[in-house]
Amino acid sequence: MNIPLMDISKQYKSIQSEIDKAIRSVLDTANFIGGPEKDNFEVEFAAAIGAKHCIGVGNGTDALFIALKAMGIGPGDEVITVANSFIATSEAVTAIGARVRFIDCNADNFLTDVSELAAALDKHSVKSGGKVKVFIPVHLYGQINNMTEIKTLCDSHGVRILEDCAQAHLAEASGKQVGTWGDAGTFSFYPGKNLGAFGDAGAIVTNNDDIALLARKLANHGRIKKYDHDMEGYNSRLDALQAAVLRVKLRHLRSWTRLRIEKAQYYSSKLSQQNHLTLPNTPSDGSHVFHLYVLRTEQRDQLLAHLNSKGIAASVHYPIILPTLKAYEYLGYKKEDFPHAYKAQGEILSLPLYPEITTAEMDYVISEINSFFKA
Ligand SMILES: *Cc1c(COP(=O)(O)O)cnc(C)c1O
Repeated sequence: MNIPLMDISKQYKSIQSEIDKAIRSVLDTANFIGGPEKDNFEVEFAAAIGAKHCIGVGNGTDALFIALKAMGIGPGDEVITVANSFIATSEAVTAIGARVRFIDCNADNFLTDVSELAAALDKHSVKSGGKVKVFIPVHLYGQINNMTEIKTLCDSHGVRILEDCAQAHLAEASGKQVGTWGDAGTFSFYPGKNLGAFGDAGAIVTNNDDIALLARKLANHGRIKKYDHDMEGYNSRLDALQAAVLRVKLRHLRSWTRLRIEKAQYYSSKLSQQNHLTLPNTPSDGSHVFHLYVLRTEQRDQLLAHLNSKGIAASVHYPIILPTLKAYEYLGYKKEDFPHAYKAQGEILSLPLYPEITTAEMDYVISEINSFFKA
């Protein structure tokens, strides 16, 4: 049996007539940039997240870049983020001309280690005589960070928060969703994300009118009206075809998220007897929307090879922590600076998980895991 990590075509087939109709209507109007599909998606996505503003942009990396720019970050500034994310998070910081400072994650759930953040802010926030103006928490794998503590800490240092929500659409704590805790939040609609377009797409959400207006201008050549440019900006727009696809999929996102959680619970219930594994937990004070089901084991490489040889596309997110990538050699970090993230990189394993995965498919994954440990 072949089981992909995620199955985008299965999802398309389940809603094909709705999607085809939405695409057809964009083709009929030939309104490809801007227009009602984009405007309506922005209103609907803001409502779904519980944010005042949504600005559609070209992708999740641009969303981070434009949001940082709209928050006034540039050369000479520093931004803290976690060692264990996808490179887009830190890439956006460098692209804006700022310098990234990495901190370690928790040993148990791989989210922000709040004591590490506290130590970094005490040393490097502007208030402490340093250059850090923003912290970017990453809601990794679909889990919400401890935003109450993070917000208290950042507020006390006058440091702003930009949430990277690329993996955590609809995750929440105390009824407040990711993207609405900080000054702004960014989303990716890369096809494999929990809400995925049919190409690149992304968005910024914020309750701050100034950030919203500036981000909207920056994403569209520094203008709001057609040839009225207040400043130079960029070309990073959510196009109408992607917006039309996303509007259809947004209507299913809640039920798909429920399915992800149910399927994750199924894995956990069946694998709980397996004492070679540490299974993912849902944060005690918030939700986990399971973009990825990440377990850990000391025999990770062997288990990964076994599953792959059986047609199961298990994978690792991410195999090399950011500070030790060649791209960041110039920052001079050592793996010992990030003991939790570094240990995790050798033990984490993502199992196939998507709303449409069947019980038979999950049972096959589970039986191959059990037979690996029996051998
Ligand atoms: C996918 C992702 C991004 C980047 O999104 P793109 O739309 O691919 O540019 C940023 N941060 C994280 C954590 C991601 O997983």
